[in-house]
Amino acid sequence: MAAVMSRRALACLFAAARPRGGAPFASPRDAPLRWLSSAAKDLPARDPRLFCVVGSGPAGMYAADRLLTHYGASARVDILDKSPVPFGLVRSGVAPDHASTKSVVNRFEGVLSDPRVCFFGNAALGRDVSVDDLTPRYHAVVLAYGATGDRTLDVPGEDTLRGAISARRFVGWFNGDPEAHGDDVEISLHGAKNLSLHDEITACLTQHRDVSHEPCTHDDTAKDRSKREMLSNGDPTEIEKKPATAEAPTAVIFGLGNVALDCARILLRDARDLRETDICAAALATLERSEVKKVALIGRRGVAQAAFSPKELRELLNLPDVDVRVYDDEVTEADEADLEASRPRRRAREAIEKRKARGNDENEIENVEIESGTRRKNRKELSVRFLRSPSALVARDDDATRLGSVILEMNELRGPPGSRRAVGTGATETIRNVALALRSVGYRSKPLEEHFIVKSTHEPDRFKQSVPFDAARGVVPNAFGRVTHSVAPAMGGGEWQVPGLYVVGWLKRGPRGIIGDNLIDAEETVGALVADDARGMLRKPDYRFKDRGVAPLLEARKKSTVSKEGWRRIDAEERRRGAEAGKPREKITSVLEMLRVANEGG
Ligand SMILES: Cc1cc2nc3c(=O)[nH]c(=O)nc-3n(C[C@H](O)[C@H](O)[C@H](O)COP(=O)(O)OP(=O)(O)OC[C@H]3O[C@@H](n4cnc5c(N)ncnc54)[C@H](O)[C@@H]3O)c2cc1C
Repeated sequence: MAAVMSRRALACLFAAARPRGGAPFASPRDAPLRWLSSAAKDLPARDPRLFCVVGSGPAGMYAADRLLTHYGASARVDILDKSPVPFGLVRSGVAPDHASTKSVVNRFEGVLSDPRVCFFGNAALGRDVSVDDLTPRYHAVVLAYGATGDRTLDVPGEDTLRGAISARRFVGWFNGDPEAHGDDVEISLHGAKNLSLHDEITACLTQHRDVSHEPCTHDDTAKDRSKREMLSNGDPTEIEKKPATAEAPTAVIFGLGNVALDCARILLRDARDLRETDICAAALATLERSEVKKVALIGRRGVAQAAFSPKELRELLNLPDVDVRVYDDEVTEADEADLEASRPRRRAREAIEKRKARGNDENEIENVEIESGTRRKNRKELSVRFLRSPSALVARDDDATRLGSVILEMNELRGPPGSRRAVGTGATETIRNVALALRSVGYRSKPLEEHFIVKSTHEPDRFKQSVPFDAARGVVPNAFGRVTHSVAPAMGGGEWQVPGLYVVGWLKRGPRGIIGDNLIDAEETVGALVADDARGMLRKPDYRFKDRGVAPLLEARKKSTVSKEGWRRIDAEERRRGAEAGKPREKITSVLEMLRVANEGG
């Protein structure tokens, strides 16, 4: 539920919001989407329009693009981003071995280089400027700051054990995000001060020596499996007595979405095959030394409900030199009706069946290694486990701060086809010798006031945020992209529009969908904005700010920002370093260094 505004704040809002000479704002529910988009076409030439887009990921860049297209010469768009460099998850999320996906930045570069656009990298809403700073300076502000948090598993050990981290941070690590590598990190992981995320992950992948148990991993032979079925009655200890099949530590990934598959692929691929990608050099060096040879992907429901796309799944299942284990009784007939209803799910299941039919021909791979004489032995193993939920992450016996094993509860599916729920059966099993556990159960937007651990020290009151937030859905509440706010029943009730404030992308609709979905989304939001403009319902920038937007304010606050020329210098330097190493770019992983390069060049 969206928070309810105080009476005083509401009075201020509507005093400022009422359009000049117009009627009070109607409920956004009154405005059908079709009307919003068609209104956009018939607008007359107009005075300059100043817009601010907060966030330069796909949603923000597509929104800027749509604003420029619609308003033509009268548009001016300032784009702010917390990061010194643009393009959000296209840079820091998309996997390095998916280079073609990143080509969308060519379109975004075109938007940035437009003379009507200014870029302010390293300028964060909620840290360097507030919404109340922005709204009087623009006709409209479009919020596009994405989903910077993640959903949790809510199991013991998840917040306290070293080695248990979110997939979001792991992805940031291999993509060179300064928050994982930088000198200016706001994080202190599990109280392990001065250890960066990079140090933590490196320790997990390369120094995991669990001497506290018999070397023993999760079940992976038919014999073990039938034994487990007999013994799986809630007490994991018996199951764990089976002989070891390998000593290599395991990385466990909770979640069956595409981000989970990306993480598994990066851990399982021969790291040498990543050398020519834009993977961050420090992460690559760690992956090349990684002792983790096993990855277990764990999903609480079945293949018929998993979120991954068949194409990504096929890519993972067919990695060279990787054995794949999927257990027959975890791909159930119970969800047959769900498979019937969804072609992508059927294709995912087919991919699994095909891979199982091919088998794991270890001899063949051994022979290739011997013949070529060059390939070092690098067999790895992926197990895809369905119908399992984590019930606890457990410390090692010899180090109470570090993850050692994971206890899973087995589930069964209940409920009607199409909305099957996973229900725990009480039976458990344990995966031993776990070096790393990644939770990949979804990103989540955060209210602005939770974005920064270290709050701004100057003018703290100015940084009180006034962006409504629907904590239950993890989005900024909106109608067709217009930010809305619940009004208390005593004040008349209902959802009302916050004037001049719009939202787009993952922040608007939740962390779902691919890059292209943000274009459709941006069209809806900009359509709503344009329709509001046609009705005289945008704000008019305060004349005292002389149509100069946020630039003078950032200057007055002595904020060191990155302009688009600065970004070009960073881009050129990253490409230069990349060329030296035979890769498209070598990302700079420190904010301080980015700022230096932006100001001085390489
Ligand atoms: C790991 C991962 C891999 C993915 N891979 C693919 C893929 O291969 N193909 C595909 O099509 N889609 C992929 N996606 C989905 C795609 O990345 C999203 O659809 C898209 O990035 C969402 O766009 P957005 O602009 O809403 O958010 P984001 O891309 O997250 O952009 C948000 C921007 O806001 C900035 N920001 C955050 N807080 C603030 C603040 N307080 N002030 C100012 N700026 C702020 C951020 O720095 C960022 O630049 C992937 C997603 C993830 C998480």
